[in-house]
Amino acid sequence: MRSEPSLEAGTTEIWRLAAASLSVAIVLVDGMGRTVYADYLEKFGQKGFAQRVLLDRAVSGIRRDGKAGLFRQQALEIFGPPRSYFQLESKPLGEGENPPFVVVIEDVTTRRQLEEIRRDFVANVSHELKTPVGAIVLLADAMSQETEPDTLLRLANRILSEGDRLAHLVSDLLDLSKIEETSIDLSRKVNLLELVAEIIERSTPSANEKQISLELSARLDDPEIEGERWQLSSAFSNLVDNAVKYSEPGTSVTVSLEGAADGVAVKVMDHGIGIPARDLHRIFERFYRVDADRARTTGGTGLGLSIVRHVIDNHHGEIAVSSTEGVGTTFTITLPRSAR
Ligand code: ADP
Repeated sequence: MRSEPSLEAGTTEIWRLAAASLSVAIVLVDGMGRTVYADYLEKFGQKGFAQRVLLDRAVSGIRRDGKAGLFRQQALEIFGPPRSYFQLESKPLGEGENPPFVVVIEDVTTRRQLEEIRRDFVANVSHELKTPVGAIVLLADAMSQETEPDTLLRLANRILSEGDRLAHLVSDLLDLSKIEETSIDLSRKVNLLELVAEIIERSTPSANEKQISLELSARLDDPEIEGERWQLSSAFSNLVDNAVKYSEPGTSVTVSLEGAADGVAVKVMDHGIGIPARDLHRIFERFYRVDADRARTTGGTGLGLSIVRHVIDNHHGEIAVSSTEGVGTTFTITLPRSAR
C-alpha cells in the first residue's frame, strides 16, 4: 500500500516535469521566502552571459519585492546580440502577510518582432499609398485651374497613370494578404505547362508593345504537380511581367519547363538590365526595389517577388536567382510533385 509521503513525492516530481515542459519559466517562493523551484536559467540562460546576468538581476528584484508583499509586472529588454525581450510577473499564491508566490517569466521576443514587422509594414504601405494619392490631388488641383486643352490632356494622363499605380499596389497587397492568410489546398492537380502557356498568352500584348519576344520551351513528360492554381499563376505572372518590364526592346524572354528530381523546374530567363549583386539577397523583401526612381516609371510596387517567395514556400519549393547587370536574369523555381 502506498504511504502518504511517497504520494506527495510523486506529485512533486510530476509537477516539476510539468513546469519544465512549459514555455514560460517559473520561480516559486514559499511563505518563508525560500526559493523552492526556479528554472529560468535553464530555459533562458543559454543565450549568452549578458542575458543570464540581466535575467538574474531582474528576477532577484521582483523576488525581493514579492517577499515584501509587492507583486508586479516588469518588461525586460536585452540589447544583445541577440536582442531579446522578456515579460516578468509575480503573483501571490494565497492570502495573509507572507504568502508564497510565483514569478512567471516569458520570452516575448518573437511576439515583439512580429509586432515590429507589422508596424513597419503599415508604415511602408501608408508611405507607398501617400505618394500616388498626393500626386493625384496636386494634378487635379492643377487641372481645376487650367483651360488649355493640351495641358488638360497631359494632366489627365498623369492622373490616369498615378491611378493605375494605386490600383496595382492595392491589388498586389490583396494578393499578398490572401496568399499569406489562406490555408493552401495541395490536393488539386495543376498542369504547369498549361498554366505557363496561358500566362505567356496573356503577357504577349504588353511584350509586343516593347518588341520583346516571349518564348516557351518544355522538356518534360509530366507537367502536373499538386498545388493551388491561382497562387502559382500569380507567382509565374509576376516573374514573366518582371522579365518583360526589366528588359530592353528587341530582346527575348524564355520560360522553360524541365523535369527535376521528383518535381518540375521552371526557369524564367531574360536578357534585360539585370540586378546588381549587392541587391540580390534583398529583392524578395516586401517593398524592396533596386532603383526606386526606375520603379516609378515601370509602375513597380516592390511586392511582386515577395508574392512569388510566399507562393513557392507554400508549395515547399525552392527559388534561385542568377543575374548579371546588363546581361540578364534567370529565376529558377523548383516545385515538388507533391508537397503534402
Ligand atoms: P516591382 O514591383 O518593383 O517589380 P518586385 O518585388 O517584383 O517589385 O521586384 C523587386 C525588384 O527586383 C524590382 O524593383 C527590380 O529592381 C528587381 N527585379 C525583379 N525582377 C527583375 C528582372 N527580371 N530583371 C531585373 N530586375 C528585376
